[in-house]
Amino acid sequence: MKVLISGASVAGPVLAYWLDRYGVETTVVERTPALRHGLGGHAVDLFGHATDVVRQMGLWAEVVDARTMIEKLTIERTGARPVHVDLGRLYAGMSDRHVEILRGELTRILSAATAHTSEYLFGDSITALADDGAGVDVTFEHSAPRRYDVVIGADGMHSTVRRLAFGPEEPVRRHLGGYLAVYSTPDLFGLGTEMLTHQSINRLAATYGVRQTGQARAAFMFRTDTELAYDYRDKDEQKRLLAREFDDYGWRVPQLLEHLEAADDFYFDAIAQITLDTWQRGRIGLVGDAGYCPAPAVGGGTSLAIATAYILAGELAANGPDGLRSYEAKVRQMVDRSRAIGPKVMGSIIPGGPAALRLLPWAASVVPKLPTPIQRFIWSQNAVGKALGSAPLPDYADLLSPRSPANPAQ
Ligand SMILES: Cc1cc2nc3c(=O)[nH]c(=O)nc-3n(C[C@H](O)[C@H](O)[C@H](O)COP(=O)(O)OP(=O)(O)OC[C@H]3O[C@@H](n4cnc5c(N)ncnc54)[C@H](O)[C@@H]3O)c2cc1C
Repeated sequence: MKVLISGASVAGPVLAYWLDRYGVETTVVERTPALRHGLGGHAVDLFGHATDVVRQMGLWAEVVDARTMIEKLTIERTGARPVHVDLGRLYAGMSDRHVEILRGELTRILSAATAHTSEYLFGDSITALADDGAGVDVTFEHSAPRRYDVVIGADGMHSTVRRLAFGPEEPVRRHLGGYLAVYSTPDLFGLGTEMLTHQSINRLAATYGVRQTGQARAAFMFRTDTELAYDYRDKDEQKRLLAREFDDYGWRVPQLLEHLEAADDFYFDAIAQITLDTWQRGRIGLVGDAGYCPAPAVGGGTSLAIATAYILAGELAANGPDGLRSYEAKVRQMVDRSRAIGPKVMGSIIPGGPAALRLLPWAASVVPKLPTPIQRFIWSQNAVGKALGSAPLPDYADLLSPRSPANPAQ
C-alpha cells in the first residue's frame, strides 16, 4: 500500500512514522518550503494518550528536553491584585502524563523521526484528487502527477484535501466567537521562563519567555459576536486587524505591538471548530485538525491529532483502505468529547463577564495548593480530563514490520 499524506506538522509525521513501522510506504507533501527549524510557533500541551504515543515512538526524552519549562504565571487585571500561579504544581496535579512544548519544536522532532523513512515533498500542495475506487490519482502544484492507494489530509484547519474531497470549509466551520494571535518578540520584560497575562472582559494579552532563544512570545485572544471578514492567508491584513483590536488596551500591549509589523512568524486564526461528522470518503481520509479541529488553544487539538494519527496508521495497516472506516468508528468518541471542550474552555480563558474574570485567577491560584489526589479528582471530573483519558489506545504491536527496530522478533 502507498499512502500520500498532506501536511507535516503533528498528525502528518505521526501517521507517517507508524505507517512505516507497519511496512507501509509513505509520501508527505508539505506546503512550507522546508522543515521548520523548530523554535517558531506557540506552546502546545501534550496530555494522556498523546504522551503514550510519543513514548512508544521513542521520542519522550527528546520532547521532555525541549519543553518550555514555564513554571510561573502571573495573572493581572485592572483594579485587582496580581495572582501568582505555580504552573509546575498545577500541571503535576492534573496528570503525570503532561508536557508543554513549542509547536515548532514538536514538529521538528516528529518530522526528524520520519525524515529517512518517508519521502518528503516540501513547497508543494495537492491540486486535484480523482478516486476511481481502485486508487487515487493526484496532481500537485509542482511535482508530476502520481497514483496512491490512499490519500490522507493532515493539513490543518484550512485543509486542502478536505476542500477537494469533502467540500468547502464554511459550512463545516463553527465559530466559537473568538480569535487568537501569536508572534515572537524580544524578551522585553526579562521574563526568562515566566508568563505574564492581563485579562479583561472579552480580551486578554499575554507574553512568555522562550528559554531556547532568549526571546519571548506575545499572545492575544479576543471575542467578537460576529465573524470577522479577512483572508486567512493575508498576514498583513490580520496584523492590522489585531493592532486595531488592541490599540486602546494599555498594560504592556503597546510595547508588544511595536514588534508586530516585523514579526515573521505571526499566527492568527479564528477559535473555530471543524464540525464535519465523517472523515473518510472512498480512499481519501482526514486526520487531526483537518477532520475535527476542536478549536485552536482551547480544545486539546495537538493531543487529539497525535492519538488519532496513531489509530489511523494501525487501522490502515490492519485493514488496507477499509481501515479508514474502522478508524472513524474508533476515534469518534474521543473526537466528540474533544469538540465538546472548546466552548467551555473558551468561556473561562477569555472571560465574557465579571464573574468569569474573577473565577479563573481564583481557581488557578487555589487548585495547585490542594493535595495532589484532590487535584487529580478535580481534573478527572472536568471535560478535558474526560476527553483525553477516554477509552484505552488500541495495541497494534502485532502489525510491526520485521525490519522495525521495536519488533522483538527481529
Ligand atoms: C496559538 C495556539 C495555541 C494552541 N494551543 C494548544 C494547546 O495548548 N494544546 C493543544 O493541544 N493544542 C493547541 N493548539 C492547536 C494545535 O496547534 C493543533 O490542534 C495541532 O497542531 C493539530 O495538528 P495538525 O497536524 O492536525 O494540523 P496543523 O498543526 O495545523 O498542521 C497542518 C500542516 O499542514 C500544512 N499544510 C496546510 N495546507 C497544506 C497544503 N495545501 N499542502 C500541504 N501542506 C499543507 C501546514 O503547513 C502544516 O504544516 C493551539 C493552536 C494555536 C494556534
